[in-house]
Amino acid sequence: MAKYVFGIDLGTTYSCIAYVDETGRATVINNSEGTNTTPSVVNFASQNQVVVGQVAKENAVIDPQNTSSLVKTLLGKSDFAISYNGDNKSPEEVSAYILRKLTEDAAKLIDAEVKDVVITCPAYFGTAERTATKNAGTIAGLNVLEVISEPTAAALYYGCIKEHDEKTILVYDLGGGTFDVTIMRINADSIEVVCSDGNHELGGKDWDEAIMRYLASEFASENGFNGEFDEYAQQNLRLKAEKAKQQLSSREEIPVMLDAAGLVARINLSRTVFEEITASLLNQTIEKTDAAIAIAEAKGFKVDEIILVGGSTRMPQVTEALMEKYGLEPKVLEPDEAVAKGAAIHAVNVYIHKQKNISGFGDSGDGASHDENATAGVELEELAVVPELIGISGKVKPIIVATTKSFALKVLKESEEQCFNMIIKNEKMDNGAIHITRQFGTAEDNQDTAELVVYESDYMEEYYDVELVEPLGTASLELPGSLPAGAPIEVTFTLNTEGILVVTGVDMTSGKDVKVTMQSTGIMAQEKVEELKEKSRQVAVM
Ligand code: AMP
Repeated sequence: MAKYVFGIDLGTTYSCIAYVDETGRATVINNSEGTNTTPSVVNFASQNQVVVGQVAKENAVIDPQNTSSLVKTLLGKSDFAISYNGDNKSPEEVSAYILRKLTEDAAKLIDAEVKDVVITCPAYFGTAERTATKNAGTIAGLNVLEVISEPTAAALYYGCIKEHDEKTILVYDLGGGTFDVTIMRINADSIEVVCSDGNHELGGKDWDEAIMRYLASEFASENGFNGEFDEYAQQNLRLKAEKAKQQLSSREEIPVMLDAAGLVARINLSRTVFEEITASLLNQTIEKTDAAIAIAEAKGFKVDEIILVGGSTRMPQVTEALMEKYGLEPKVLEPDEAVAKGAAIHAVNVYIHKQKNISGFGDSGDGASHDENATAGVELEELAVVPELIGISGKVKPIIVATTKSFALKVLKESEEQCFNMIIKNEKMDNGAIHITRQFGTAEDNQDTAELVVYESDYMEEYYDVELVEPLGTASLELPGSLPAGAPIEVTFTLNTEGILVVTGVDMTSGKDVKVTMQSTGIMAQEKVEELKEKSRQVAVM
C-alpha cells in the first residue's frame, strides 16, 4: 500500500483533509458525501454510533440536544462539550469524531492508510488549546506529526504554488467561527511570522446571526407574530440564514421563505441590507488588521500583498473593505482548501525530515506538538511521493515563528502590584526558543521566600494590572531570611515553540535557585487520552 501523510484543517464550522499525491500536487480528498469540506458538527445518534458532517448539521434541527457544533471554540478551555446518555463528552473527544470522519472517508477514497497527520489551529491558540488539538488527534487514533497555525499553513501553500521574491504578506483569514490576521515575511528560503492577532469569537456564524435577527424581525412585522421561535424554527432559521448569506456572495438579492408557528413569510434580503446589518462585524476585522499592520510597520515591514483565506472571505464586502482601506487588491487563495493543502505539504516536510533524522528541524516548527516516538532511529516507510524528484523538499520552507502570547511576572512598581511583561507577544523565536533574564530586588528585609508569580496574556504593554488575568503559576524561591530589601534576584523566562514556559529564579547572594515548568491548567492527562482513544474505537462514525 502506498504511504501518504495528510494535512487536516480542523475548522470551527467546516473541516477539510488534503494530501500530496504521487505527482507532488497538494490535493483535497472529498468526504463520502462528495464534498471537499465537512461541517464540524457531531450528532450522537446512539451509544455506539455518531454522525458527523452535513447529515449531523441537518439533524441539529430535529435533535439539538444530542448535537455538538462549534466544538473547536472549547478546545483547551473547557473539559465539557456535550452530555449524551449521562456521559459528559470533552471537546477533545468530540473533535476526535470529526477527525475520524475526515480520515476514515479519505482512507476509503484513496485506498490508503491515514495515520500521520499535521493538524492546523488558529495562530492565537496557546499551549492548552494546541495540546488539546493534538490530543483530539491521538484519541482519533492518529499520529500527530505537528500542530501548525492556519495562516502559516496557508502561507506555505501560497509559497509553494509560485516562486516569490522576498515580500511581506498579510493573511486575512475569516472562517466560520474565528478571525485571524497574520503578517509574514516570505522568501525563497523561509517563512517568518512577524505578528498575528485575531478574534476567536468572530466568524461567519456572526454574519449568519445578524441575518437571523433581521429575518425574525421581518417575519414578526409581516405576520404580526410576537412569540418566540421554538428550537426547531430557530435551527431552521439558522440554516436558511447561512444559505442566504452564501447566495448573496454572488447575487444582489434573494428571497427567503420562512415558516414558524404555523405562519409563513417570504422575505427579500438584498446585499445592501446585508452589508448594512453586518458592517460593525466587518469593522472589527479591519481594526484587528490595522493593529497588526501597525506592529509590522513598527518592526520596519510594509505589507506588499494581502491574501484571503477562510470561507467567509467569499463575501464581496471583505475584498471591497480591504481594497478601499489599504489600496491593495486582495488575492483569493482557495478559501476552503489552502490551509489543509499547506498542512499536507508541511506533513511531507516533517515526515521526510524525521526520516532523514535531521535533528533540530522540529525546533523551527510552528508552536508545534511533536511526536517524539516517531523521531530518531525509527524506521519510517518511504512516501509514495518522491519529493526530490518533484522538488517539494526544495520548495518547503522552514518556519520562523513569533510568540503568540505575552508572559509576565508580578512585581512591585511604585508600591503597586503590577504584571511586568518579560516576553511580549509577537517576539521573534529565532532558534525555536526565547530566553529573557532580568534582575529584580526583594521587596522587604528578611524575606523567607520570593514568590515568582507568572501570567500569560495577550497584553503587549510593559506593565498591566494584576487583576486583569489569572496567574499561570508560581515558582517559590527560598531565601536565607537574612537579606535586606532590594537584594538581587535574577529571573529567567525560557519559552519554546510549543508554548511551554520554564521560569528560573536565582538568589544572587546565596546562589540558591528554583526552576519551574509552568503548565497551563486544562490539559488532559495522558491516561485520559488513552482511555478515550479506546472508548472511541467502540463507536462507529458515519
Ligand atoms: P471555513 O471555516 O474557512 O470553512 O469557513 C466557513 C464559513 O464560510 C462559514 O461561515 C460559511 O457560511 C462561510 N462561507 C462559505 N461559502 C460562502 C460564500 N459563498 N459566501 C459567504 N460565506 C461563505
